[in-house]
Amino acid sequence: MSRKLLLKNAHIEGIRFFEAYRKNGGYAAVEKALRMTPEELVEQVKTSGLRGRGGAGFPTGMKWSFLAKPEGVPRHLVVNADESEPGTFKDRYLMEYIPHLLIEGMIISSFALGANLSFIYIRGEYSWIPDILEQAIEEAKANGFLGKNILGTGFDLEIFVQRGAGAYICGEETALLESLEGKRGNPRLKPPFPAVKGLWERPTVVNNVETIAAIVPIIELGGEEYAKIGVGKSTGTKLISACGNINKPGVYEIDMTISVEEFIYSDEYCGGIPNGKRLKACIPGGSSVPILPANLLLKTMNGEPRLMNYESLADGGFATGTMMGSGGFEVLDEDQCVVKHTMSLARFYNHESCGQCTPCREGTGWMYRILQKIENGQGTMQDIDLLWDIQSKIEGNTICPLGDAAAWPVAAAIRHFRDEFEWHILNPELCRTQNYGLAGY
Ligand code: NAD
Ligand code: SF4
Repeated sequence: MSRKLLLKNAHIEGIRFFEAYRKNGGYAAVEKALRMTPEELVEQVKTSGLRGRGGAGFPTGMKWSFLAKPEGVPRHLVVNADESEPGTFKDRYLMEYIPHLLIEGMIISSFALGANLSFIYIRGEYSWIPDILEQAIEEAKANGFLGKNILGTGFDLEIFVQRGAGAYICGEETALLESLEGKRGNPRLKPPFPAVKGLWERPTVVNNVETIAAIVPIIELGGEEYAKIGVGKSTGTKLISACGNINKPGVYEIDMTISVEEFIYSDEYCGGIPNGKRLKACIPGGSSVPILPANLLLKTMNGEPRLMNYESLADGGFATGTMMGSGGFEVLDEDQCVVKHTMSLARFYNHESCGQCTPCREGTGWMYRILQKIENGQGTMQDIDLLWDIQSKIEGNTICPLGDAAAWPVAAAIRHFRDEFEWHILNPELCRTQNYGLAGY
C-alpha cells in the first residue's frame, strides 16, 4: 500500500473548510516554516529531491535557487493551475477537495522565495473551483495565516486567483505569465527563464499545484525523511489521474516504487481492464508523452518490471520508453484504434497551437489532415512516411514545447503501431465501417 502524504486527510468530512483542516493538523507546517529562515526552507526542498509535478520533472529546489534577487524588485510565486493536458485531472482534485493544502504550501513557498504577492492561475473550464479557492483564502486570512504580519512574524502575503479563458497554451509558463499580465497568451522565448524575468519582468517562480502542495509534507517530515520515500531521483509521492479502459478511474497517490502492472491490475488502484479485455497500450503521463504498447509498458529493456516513476518510465529513451509527464495515465484496451486516437490528439494540438511558429502552426494541421485521411480509409503508404517526416521537422524547432507535444504522440504511434496504419491503408472498406481494434486484434 502506497504511503499517503497529500491525500491522507482527503476522506475527512469538511476537510475543504478551515476548521476541519486545522483540526487535522493543517497549517502546523506554516507555523514550523515561519520559525525557519528562507534559506533553510530552500535547503529542505533541495534535500527532499522534489521534482516539478506539472510534467517536466525539473528539480524544485534548484528552480527556487535560480530565483534572481535584485535589491528593491518584488518577486512572485505563480501557481500553475491551468491543468489542461488531456487525461490529467489530479490538480483539480486537490483544489476541489483540499484547497487549504495548496494555500498552506503557497504560504510556505512564498516565504521561502521572499514573495509578498502570489497568484493562482486556473484554467477557465474549472469554473466552479475559483470560488472554493477564494473561500479558502478568506478563511486563512480570517485566521491570521494570510494578509499583514502573518502569525506576528512580520511576513505579509496576499494571494489572488486569476481565471484563464480556456486556452491550453496558457498552461505553458511564459504564455501563462503573458495572460496574467492581461495580454494574449503567446509563449515567450526562453531564456530568460521566469526565475530571472517573469511576471512584469520581475523574478518569478512558476510551480504546479501538486508541487506546491507537496511542500507541506516536506516541511512536516523534513527534506531528508521525504527523500527516503520513493526510489532514486523519484522521491516522495506522486498523484496519478487514471482514465480510459480501467475498472476504477480516479486520482491515486503512489509512492513511485510500484510497478505499472500493479497500478493497472491491483484493486487498490485501477482494478484491471473491464470485461476481461486485453491491455493494448498506455499513455502514462498525459497526451503529450509517447504511447507505449503493452509489451514495452510492463517491462524495461532488461526485462525488469517497469515502475511508475520518472526513470523507469523513460527507460530506453523514446525508442522503448515514455515519460512520467503530468501523471495523466490513460489505458487503451484491445478494442481501441491507435490511428483514431492519434488523429484525435492531432486535432487537439492543431486547435490549441497559438500560431507563432510555422512548424507548429502548419505542421499540426498537416498531421491532422493526413491522419484523418488514413483513418477514413483514403491514405497511402507514402502518407505514413510523410507523417513521420512532418513530425520530425516540428520537434525541437519551435518556441515552446507544444510543438514537441504534438510531434511525439505521432512519432510513437508510427514507431510502435505501424502495422495498424498499414492496415487502414490496405483495408479502406473495412476501416470505414469498423475500428482497427475490433478488426485487427
Ligand atoms: P521545461 O523543461 O522547459 O522547464 C521546466 C521548468 O524548469 C520551467 O519552470 C523552467 O522555467 C525551469 N527551468 C529550466 N531550466 C532552467 C534554467 N536554466 N534556469 C531557470 N529555470 C529553468 O518544461 P516546461 O515547458 O515547463 O514543461 C513541459 C512539460 O509540461 C511537458 O513535459 C508536459 O508533460 C507538461 N505539460 C503539462 C500540462 C498539464 O496540464 N499539467 C499541460 C501541458 C504540458
Ligand atoms: Fe505557439 Fe506552437 Fe510555437 Fe508554442 S510551438 S509558440 S504553441 S506555435
